[in-house]
Amino acid sequence: MSYFSGRRRPSPDRAAVVSGPVSAIAFPAPDASILFHREAILAGLSALVPPSSLVTSEDERRAFETDALTAYRRLPLAVVLPQTTDQVSAVLKFCHEQKVKIVPRGAGTSLSGGAIPQEDAIVVGLSKMNRILAIDYVNRTARVEAGVTNLAITEAVSEEGFFYAPDPSSQLACTIGGNIGMNSGGAHCLKYGVTTNNVLGVRIVLIDGTILDVGGDHLDSGGLDLLGLIVGSEGQLGMVTEATVRILRAAEGARPVLFGFPTSEAAGAAVAAIIGAGIIPVAMEFMDKPAIEICEAFAHAGYPLDVEAMLIIEVEGSDAEMDAELARIIDIARQHGVKTIRESRSAMETAAIWKGRKSAFGATGRVADYICMDGTIPTGQLPKVLQRMSEIVAGYGLRVANVFHAGDGNLHPLVLYNCNDPQEQAKAEAAGADILKLCVEVGGCLTGEHGVGIEKRDLMRFQFDTADLDQQMRVRAVFDPDWLLNPAKVFPLEGRVAA
Ligand SMILES: Cc1cc2nc3c(=O)[nH]c(=O)nc-3n(C[C@H](O)[C@H](O)[C@H](O)COP(=O)(O)OP(=O)(O)OC[C@H]3O[C@@H](n4cnc5c(N)ncnc54)[C@H](O)[C@@H]3O)c2cc1C
Repeated sequence: MSYFSGRRRPSPDRAAVVSGPVSAIAFPAPDASILFHREAILAGLSALVPPSSLVTSEDERRAFETDALTAYRRLPLAVVLPQTTDQVSAVLKFCHEQKVKIVPRGAGTSLSGGAIPQEDAIVVGLSKMNRILAIDYVNRTARVEAGVTNLAITEAVSEEGFFYAPDPSSQLACTIGGNIGMNSGGAHCLKYGVTTNNVLGVRIVLIDGTILDVGGDHLDSGGLDLLGLIVGSEGQLGMVTEATVRILRAAEGARPVLFGFPTSEAAGAAVAAIIGAGIIPVAMEFMDKPAIEICEAFAHAGYPLDVEAMLIIEVEGSDAEMDAELARIIDIARQHGVKTIRESRSAMETAAIWKGRKSAFGATGRVADYICMDGTIPTGQLPKVLQRMSEIVAGYGLRVANVFHAGDGNLHPLVLYNCNDPQEQAKAEAAGADILKLCVEVGGCLTGEHGVGIEKRDLMRFQFDTADLDQQMRVRAVFDPDWLLNPAKVFPLEGRVAA
């Protein structure tokens, strides 16, 4: 979910600007003078970081040429892996002076191509800045370096009964810096909010090397809400090197329940009715039949195989609280023709249920290539959109598996295709673009939690009109007037404006 996804209506300019599928995403031509001066740039960088923090050989740079949008790749000029904020500052200052582009990187799990480099850019990766700096249980905060993985925060505080709420399925690998870059979410964000609701402050290095502390260790701070601007800014405003995050006390108990439905539309309508009734479970996840089969074969979680769609709904609290909330949910599910209801009865079952859901993308990768789209719609539109999505994908002669955060209306259709067939790839991308346009048309937006990256950059004009985009670009240009930070992402390449 990006802060750029503010206005939920299609741009009136859209028909003129986005006329066809988004395929073969264009990368800007590399700056020849930067390529020519590569050796001098490397010499400059080598004076700023230890030798083990500078990656120059072609073989090693290959490890950074793409992210989880693997259909696209570019070999970076070099990779720098700083170990301190001061090193990040020195590297950015040097690159600013030399007008060298920077691509900030965490673990490279972005599904929208946010961390894919350019040939004339330096990748600055924060994987070596992975320390938990302080934990304050009294004030319920943790101070961490940006390269700490998402899961490591919960692991560090779980013995004391605490957890860090945003839980992307990639949480074993993805970093808090990347989560801040993308304003990431996860299955349990329905109740606790996404990254922006769980970050209190950041240390950020601006492109000229200035180090700023934004926000603090407490709720709200005076002045403009720069923290709100930074979370979800996709590495375009600066590099976050440290963050203070909220940690929450874990509930007394939690129970996921599987609900099997005869149709996807019935499951979608049940979600809309549950949210409409003012019930906010901790998680409400949707899987259609193809996704259920793929995930069950991987996780053996006991998912029902005789239904067309399934919801995993998790409630939490004391036994009495969980029973009361579940009774209301079950009542609504029955009104929508639920076929099967199965409660988790043990910690092992709970773990298997969540393993199946959280491994959905990896499990799908075992059976087919796929592109994972990510858009958001008002939950009331779920039944209609689920129907239209199947028609769109079938129209291209392809298949789709749906697994997504239904309670937030955050869709993740996985469009299946064969990556060795360029025509199929173009069709998959076209189907994905049509689905995202549909999300905007029904009052939703192009991103849910994976950001715009390079993948949806050229669709931005479908959601925002020129005045919207110009204003956003002016704000961006205040931070980075030369457009050196992750410049090929988020905003259409043409028509860029100055501050
Ligand atoms: C299998 C799988 C499952 C996933 N599930 C989810 C999910 O449930 N929910 C979800 O939200 N996402 C999910 N994702 C997407 C991805 O994991 C998230 O976007 C994640 O936050 C990226 O973190 P990263 O450390 O890998 O960042 P990267 O991919 O390295 O970078 C992501 C973006 O952040 C910027 N960035 C990275 N570090 C910094 C920094 N220190 N300062 C400033 N900018 C920075 C980069 O330039 C880039 O634009 C999934 C991905 C995969 C592969």
